[in-house]
Amino acid sequence: MCPSPAPPRLVVAGNGMAAHRLLERLAEDSPQRWSITVFGAEPRANYNRILLSTVLSGEKSAADVMDTDAAWFSRRGITFHAGVAITSIDRERRIVHDAAGGQAAYDHLVLATGSDAVQLPLPGKDLDGVRTFRDLDDVEHLIAATRTRRRAVVIGGGLLGLEAAWGLRQRGLDVTVVHLMGHLMERQLDRTAALYLQRDLERRGIRFALRADTAAIEGEGRVEAVRLRDGRRLATDLVVMAVGVRPNVALARAAGLAVRRGVLVDDALATSDTAISAIGECVEHAGQVYGLVAPAWAQADVLAARLAGNRKVAYRGSIVGTNLKVAGVAVYAAGDIAAADGAEEAVCADPDTGLYRKVVLRDGRLAGAVLVGDAADGGWLFDLMQRGEPVLHLREPLVLGRAFAEPARQAA
Ligand SMILES: Cc1cc2nc3c(=O)[nH]c(=O)nc-3n(C[C@H](O)[C@H](O)[C@H](O)COP(=O)(O)OP(=O)(O)OC[C@H]3O[C@@H](n4cnc5c(N)ncnc54)[C@H](O)[C@@H]3O)c2cc1C
Repeated sequence: MCPSPAPPRLVVAGNGMAAHRLLERLAEDSPQRWSITVFGAEPRANYNRILLSTVLSGEKSAADVMDTDAAWFSRRGITFHAGVAITSIDRERRIVHDAAGGQAAYDHLVLATGSDAVQLPLPGKDLDGVRTFRDLDDVEHLIAATRTRRRAVVIGGGLLGLEAAWGLRQRGLDVTVVHLMGHLMERQLDRTAALYLQRDLERRGIRFALRADTAAIEGEGRVEAVRLRDGRRLATDLVVMAVGVRPNVALARAAGLAVRRGVLVDDALATSDTAISAIGECVEHAGQVYGLVAPAWAQADVLAARLAGNRKVAYRGSIVGTNLKVAGVAVYAAGDIAAADGAEEAVCADPDTGLYRKVVLRDGRLAGAVLVGDAADGGWLFDLMQRGEPVLHLREPLVLGRAFAEPARQAA
């Protein structure tokens, strides 16, 4: 009897949310097909990064958000190197080198290196008490800081900044959000929706400084204040920088792969080297770099199917929708919310109740939606958007809500 050939070697760089989805799919659909080795720079198994906001706010513990442990990998026959980053790729010999001095050969390599939190190059950025909000180490550090510090400034009024502000507020800190733009979450919300959200958060004790550009972080060894360019000085003993993320492309760039904002991939998730694929926040597909998990998972699903031998599946891009995870504050935004280029919008706003709904239609189809105050219809609107169903006749009922639109839709 001839011995069966050894399975080809799959190496995965990164053990975040995209990689985990890929490994789950491979384990389910083609368990014996690849001999898999995973390198994760973080010193732990995989966790649900999205839920870090709830760990910071105290709704969940760090243990609650762990998706895997070492046993998860060994049960599936996967070799897992926790806390070991891949430092370089030798594409000619198809070998990766790691930070522990080791190496691993691959037949196929997957880059799932995610993003890095942007650190503003401000004077004082390295003072004790200045932190980003990206991983479990950040969150554990912030939670420890809340035991001794009373005031926090969060730089950045986007989704992550607001979730960080809420978490710190829940832990009893006096919190001010400093935001460069004129309204919060400007990438997802229009001015009115953002104002309703701001009022709600102010009622919950969070303060805001808008159109506020940070000039410096001040302190002797430890942070004492944030200085704004307009001269204001906000006394604080903790600073969270939540000013966005940047695709982690260092490894790919050093290996000579094609990179723009992210690692360039085609519809097959292949990089400029067909022996290397990339998925998740580190990639740029059709000009888009996504900062949310749904596209990362969609890419992981496609890549898993392709690695299982199905060459017909392709990734064609994602429509994204997102919720703000602040308990009791309902905010949902999806798709394209700026009614530009011939798109039309319908809005229903009630300043007394703080309820705001907007739908954006393009070519008779739902292109975007914003809900503040009641986000229960978010999933339903998202499905309509994804199906690309003609909804021009539902323009008015859509903005009133599913209860009005669904009967009209069924009747049509
Ligand atoms: C607090 C917070 C809340 C969020 N909330 C939401 C939300 O509500 N909805 C949503 O859709 N998205 C949310 N996101 C974004 C979401 O978490 C990301 O879109 C998702 O994690 C992307 O997955 P990824 O695998 O591409 O990157 P990551 O999950 O960041 O994983 C990348 C991993 O690769 C590791 N790595 C990097 N370089 C190397 C290397 N050379 N070798 C080995 N390992 C390496 C990194 O350490 C990291 O562990 C949130 C993010 C944060 C931080």
